Amino acid sequence: MDSGKRRGRPRAARITWAFRLIVVLCLCYIGYLLVEKEKAAPLFYHVDSSQKAAGADERIQFLVLHYTAEDFTGSMKTLTTGQVSAHYLIPLHPDNAAGIPTALRLVDESRRAWHAGESYWRGRENLNDTSIGIEIENGGYYRTLTGYDAAPYPPHQIALVIALSRDIIKRYHISPFNVVGHSDIAWRRKQDPGPLFPWRQLAAAGVGIWPDQNRVNFYLGKRDPRQRVAMPAILQRMARYGYDVTPGMPVALQQKAVAAFQMHFRPTDFRGLPDAETEAILDALLEVDAREGGAR
Ligand SMILES: [Zn+2]
Repeated sequence: MDSGKRRGRPRAARITWAFRLIVVLCLCYIGYLLVEKEKAAPLFYHVDSSQKAAGADERIQFLVLHYTAEDFTGSMKTLTTGQVSAHYLIPLHPDNAAGIPTALRLVDESRRAWHAGESYWRGRENLNDTSIGIEIENGGYYRTLTGYDAAPYPPHQIALVIALSRDIIKRYHISPFNVVGHSDIAWRRKQDPGPLFPWRQLAAAGVGIWPDQNRVNFYLGKRDPRQRVAMPAILQRMARYGYDVTPGMPVALQQKAVAAFQMHFRPTDFRGLPDAETEAILDALLEVDAREGGAR
């Protein structure tokens, strides 16, 4: 038995334990004060932006043009209430204020609009992240048994597309190679802006690129423009230019891809057949691309 030996801790031990308790409580309180101070304090800091880095460019790299394939009411409903949107809509009949036509901005340029979907161009995917999208009210293009039907783009509407595009291109320094149609960047599922879109006129106004006819003739040589060439020759050039194509694709897809290229650069015949003129147009475009250093 050890009764009588544990009537209490020695006095010195009790003081030590009390001291430890006080220290712990003090530390807790100090911690609490620091946390509260952190929460309450505003973040004071200065930014010095006098030094500039060379390695930077615009987040916006591409301008993508579309047609809506709907009338104005349908276009607005689709672009403002659904899962798709665009930065701008160009109505078929834009409002005029003192003779100046009005483009509708539906998404601020600093925000991402959902117009491109799954897409690829010149090494980049998901172009929604890095593009401005312009939707153009237009009835669209449809294949028929005998050919196709497509709604025309009236000159006043194209004039507004050009004015807006030039402004966007200038502000973001967008390369002419990166002014594209939805059918260029998503050719498996999209045809817009279709075969009647006047890409040549746009290029002449500084929007996008169009091959120099003299260079096309040079590359065509004495061949008949419709003379067949090997499909891989076309697809390899398209891939170099920026299209998401490979020579190993199924035949049906190969023809569809070539048709998308032709719809943009040779709309007089976009059946998707690999011919000498298509090859010459690609060579003329690649020549400019090489001269520009393959700008991306
Ligand atoms: Zn589109």
